[in-house]
Parts: sequence; structure tokens; C-alpha cells
Amino acid sequence: MCNKRLTYRYKLDFLLHCSMEKRCPVCENKIVGRSDKKFCNPECKSTYHYEKRIEEERFYLSVDRQLKVNRKILKSYNKNGFTTVRKETLLKEGFDPNYFTHYWKNKKGQVYLFVYDFGFLLLKKNRTHKYVIVNWQEYMKPH
Ligand SMILES: [Zn+2]
Repeated sequence: MCNKRLTYRYKLDFLLHCSMEKRCPVCENKIVGRSDKKFCNPECKSTYHYEKRIEEERFYLSVDRQLKVNRKILKSYNKNGFTTVRKETLLKEGFDPNYFTHYWKNKKGQVYLFVYDFGFLLLKKNRTHKYVIVNWQEYMKPH
């Protein structure tokens, strides 16, 4: 890379990788020592990897959070094991039907989406959209 003609595009790369003055990506201090050193000290190295891991886990954590919110809402509305609730009511609470853990299809071919142990099925009657909420049952186990 360092032998490449220094087009504008490669200039930044050159400055980052080839110039004698390498800088730490965390604190921007000058890096002294071996040429393959990427960080100025072990603390900056661990900070970098910690932040990278957090970044990578952000999506997982956001999905996890929404699943928990969904389950909490379904649970709070389904005290009797079988309930029907207006769609808007659940959405207003923060329910997001795009987040579920698995599904179960009944004999009629209706697909219940589950958030762990609570399932929901969208019913459209005229203009009102409702969710049927059910508890997970042993017979719903995939076989
Ligand atoms: Zn540093």
C-alpha cells in the first residue's frame, strides 16, 4: 500500500499506516515502538476492543430489549390465558409485532407469533384490528 501513488484516496491511508508518526486510534497520542504496534498502551488497546464489542452487541441488545417489552405487555393483558385486545392499544404500550421468538400454526392454518410463552394472532374484522393473546401450551411444541 505504501508504494502506491498517493492519490487523494490513498492519502489518508498513507497517513494512518505508512507515515512515521503513527497515532493511537483511541487517544491520538503518538505511538512509539514496534512498527506493528496499533495502540499507545494496553489501556487504549482494551478500551478499543471493549467499545468494539459494545458496538457489535448493540443490535442484539436492542432486539433483546424489545422482546422483553413485548412479553411484558402480552403478559399484562393476558391474565386469563386467552384475551382479545385492540391492536392500537398494544402498539400504544410499546408493543412491536415484528419482534417474536417463534411461531405456532393451528389446524386452521392460523399462525400465532410467540414472544417466549405468550402468543399473538392478528384478527382483522371490518376495520378493527385485534390481537388474540394466548399462553403457550405443551401441545404447541414443535415435533
Ligand atoms: Zn492511546
